[in-house]
Amino acid sequence: MLLGPPGSGKGTLAKFIEEELGLPQLSTGELFRHEMQRRTLLGKMVSRYVTEGLLVPDELVVKVMTRQLSTPRTRRGFVLDGFPRTVGQAKGLDAYLKRRGRPLHGAILLACTPRVLIDRLGGRRVCSQCGANYHLRNVPPKRPGVCDRCAGALTTRMDDRTGTIKKRLEVDRTQSKPLLDYYRARGLLYRLNGDGSGVEVYRRAARLFARRSWLAGVTASRRSPAGREAVA
Ligand code: AMP
Repeated sequence: MLLGPPGSGKGTLAKFIEEELGLPQLSTGELFRHEMQRRTLLGKMVSRYVTEGLLVPDELVVKVMTRQLSTPRTRRGFVLDGFPRTVGQAKGLDAYLKRRGRPLHGAILLACTPRVLIDRLGGRRVCSQCGANYHLRNVPPKRPGVCDRCAGALTTRMDDRTGTIKKRLEVDRTQSKPLLDYYRARGLLYRLNGDGSGVEVYRRAARLFARRSWLAGVTASRRSPAGREAVA
């Protein structure tokens, strides 16, 4: 499970883990944006919260995520990105995992300096078609404004506009402490330096996984050469 404020790199790290270790990324934010784009009922229900940078109500988030966790692709493991965000959601998740007999390995807090967060969020661009993430300076597309993967148009997320960035960081500051206390009290909280490039942060995370032997059931089948090198 990846925790940390907006811009701390949860999505980027989750994508590295998915590519290198084959563990699917379950991202509430991505799921909500996808549903909003398709104008589904769920998309309509969450739209106001997401565009204003407010949290979607716990009951709805837990329902959506436990449904995701019940799919076969999570059988070998999974990475939670952006969920849970509140103690209520954490309790809902615990109850579900307990029923399923699937223990949680750990909650990784990506800790970043505020300057890095604001810079990352302000420069972030997202493909309007495939959802790929870019950054104007750190991860620029080959052609300005155009996605390398699918040639879709790059846009600024509604919630990355300057006023909303400040609100989201403020919401996170007030909401996250009880959640961090919750996992700390259970001995599950791990702090990881989230400053630096995606590869640097992935390498730090991979070293943590290796130290904790979290990859025991994952190693042989999917880990790519890059992953092996990073873990070693
Ligand atoms: P993210 O992509 O994780 O920054 O999430 C974008 C937006 O989706 C947030 O600002 C919230 O409005 C909503 N959201 C994502 N995850 C959650 C969650 N676990 N609980 C409530 N709202 C969420």
